[in-house]
Amino acid sequence: MLTSQVLASANPNLQLNSVMQNEVRQVWFKCLEVIRAEVNEQSFKTWFEPVTPLRVSGNTLTIQVPSQFFYEWLEDNYVHILRKAIDYALGRNGMLEYSIVVDKGDRKNPPITYNVPNQKPNISTPFIKKPEPDLYQSPFLLKDLDSLELDSYLNSHYTFEKFVEGDCNRLGRSAGMAVAQRPGVTAFNPLMIYGGVGLGKTHLIQSIGNYIKDTQPNKFVLYVSSEKFTNQFINAIKNNTLQAFTNFYLRVDVLIIDDVQFLAGKEKTQESFFHIFNHLHQTGKQIIMSSDRPPRELQGMQDRLLSRFKWGLTADLQQPDFETRIAIIQKKLQADGIYINDVVIEYLAHSIDTNVRELEGVIVSLMAHASLNRREIDMELAKSTLRNIVLDTEKEVTVDNIIEAVINHFEVELVDLKSKSRKKETVFPRQVAMYLMKEFTNLPLKSIGYHFGGRDHSTVIHAVQTISDLMENDKDVEKTMQKLYKYFNRTRIKA
Ligand code: ADP
Ligand code: MG
Repeated sequence: MLTSQVLASANPNLQLNSVMQNEVRQVWFKCLEVIRAEVNEQSFKTWFEPVTPLRVSGNTLTIQVPSQFFYEWLEDNYVHILRKAIDYALGRNGMLEYSIVVDKGDRKNPPITYNVPNQKPNISTPFIKKPEPDLYQSPFLLKDLDSLELDSYLNSHYTFEKFVEGDCNRLGRSAGMAVAQRPGVTAFNPLMIYGGVGLGKTHLIQSIGNYIKDTQPNKFVLYVSSEKFTNQFINAIKNNTLQAFTNFYLRVDVLIIDDVQFLAGKEKTQESFFHIFNHLHQTGKQIIMSSDRPPRELQGMQDRLLSRFKWGLTADLQQPDFETRIAIIQKKLQADGIYINDVVIEYLAHSIDTNVRELEGVIVSLMAHASLNRREIDMELAKSTLRNIVLDTEKEVTVDNIIEAVINHFEVELVDLKSKSRKKETVFPRQVAMYLMKEFTNLPLKSIGYHFGGRDHSTVIHAVQTISDLMENDKDVEKTMQKLYKYFNRTRIKA
C-alpha cells in the first residue's frame, strides 16, 4: 500500500528543455542497460519499454508509468533490479520516483499523474526517500497536532438512531447503513446523497461516519465540508504545503465531503480532489459525498469528476411527507424531554412542509417561547409562535425585551444586572444581555453600557468577546445562546 508514501504533484511539467531531456534520456538509457542484462526479452518489452523517463532533479530520477497496477508490479517484482540500475546510473545516493498516470486526459484536459517514491518497506535505506515529518501535517488548524491529528470532525449528535426514516429518505438511509456496515466494500462507492436545503444530507452522511467510528475504531474517518477543503487547498498552495495536504487526505479510510456543489467552478481544487478521489477509490477506501442537486445538474464541474461520481450510488432525499414530519417532531420532543399534545403536533406538521431544518427551528422557537414565558406548549402558543415566525419578522428587538428575556431565562433580578456585582450568577447573564444588544440593536457600545449601570465601552467589548468565545468553545453556552438567539432571530430586523 502506498497511501502514506505518496508525494503528490499534479501534472508534471513535460516541457523540459532539450539539455535536460538529453540528460534524463541518458540516465534512463544507463538504467536500461542494467535492466536488459537482468530480465528476459518478454519482461523487458512488457514492463520497461512503456516507461517514460520524465526528469532528473538532484539525484532523483522520475519515470512515468501508465497505471497504478504497473507501478505496483514494478515495485513487487523488479525493485532490486531497479536499485541496481539506479546505483549504476546515479550512484548510491540516487533515488527513483514514479509518476503514475491516473487519468490519461483528453483534448481538453491534461493527464493527471501523481508521484510516489520507489519504496519497499524491507529494502535498505538510501533508496528509501524518507518523507519529512511535516509532509503529513494535517491541513486542519490544530493546536496539538499529535493528539488531534485523527480527529474526524464529526458531530456525535448525528446518528442513524436520530435520523427518522420515511419514504422521503429510505433509499439514502439504507444505502448509508450498508456503507456504514461495510465501508469500501459495497458497490456504493462513492455514495452520493443529494437533496435540497435542510433535508438531512449532513445528518445522514455524518451518521455513516459516526457509525463506522463506533464499530471500526481503527479506521480513519474524516468529515470535511467542500468549503473547508477548498480553503485548505488554497492555503496549501499559498504556504507551499501541497504535498502535506495531499498526503494527509490520502491517509483517510472514509472520506466524507459535504456540499460538493461548492467545488463548482473551482478547477484547481477539483483537480486536487479528483486525484485524492482516485487514489482512495483505487485503494478500496470509502468516499461519501453530498450535494444540493443531482450530479447531472452540477455545472462548472469537470466531466471526468462527474463521471467518477456516478461510479457508485446516487440517492436523493426528498421533502418529508406528513407522517414523517410527525415522527420527526415527536423524536425531537422526546429527545428534549418535552411533552406536547398530539393535536398541536399535527397542527405543526400540517403547517410546516418545507424542510426538516425549518420544522426543527419552529420547535426550538416554541420551546424557547414556552420557557421564556413559563407556559406550556399548547395550541394557542403554537399558533402565535407560527404567526410570529411568518409575520413578525419586522418587529424590532428592543433593549427592554432583551433584558426581559435574559431575566426570565436566567431567573435573575434587574437590579443585579444593573449593579456592580461580580458574582458569577450575575456577570454571565449581564454579559449575555450585552452581547445580544450588540448583536440585535444598532446601539453604540457606550449606550449598551449605560443600560447596565453605566459601564464603559471596554467592559461591553470584553463581554461581547467573552460570550462569542464561549459560544465557540462551550457546548452549554452555545445551547443557551441558540435558544435566546432563536427567540429573537424570528423577530429581529435583518441587518
Ligand atoms: P442539509 O445538510 O440537507 O441541509 P441537515 O442534515 O443539516 O440538512 O438537516 C437539518 C436539520 O434537520 C438537522 O438538525 C437534522 O438533524 C434534521 N433532520 C433532517 N432530516 C432528519 C430526519 N430524517 N430525522 C431527524 N432529523 C432530521
Ligand atoms: Mg448540510
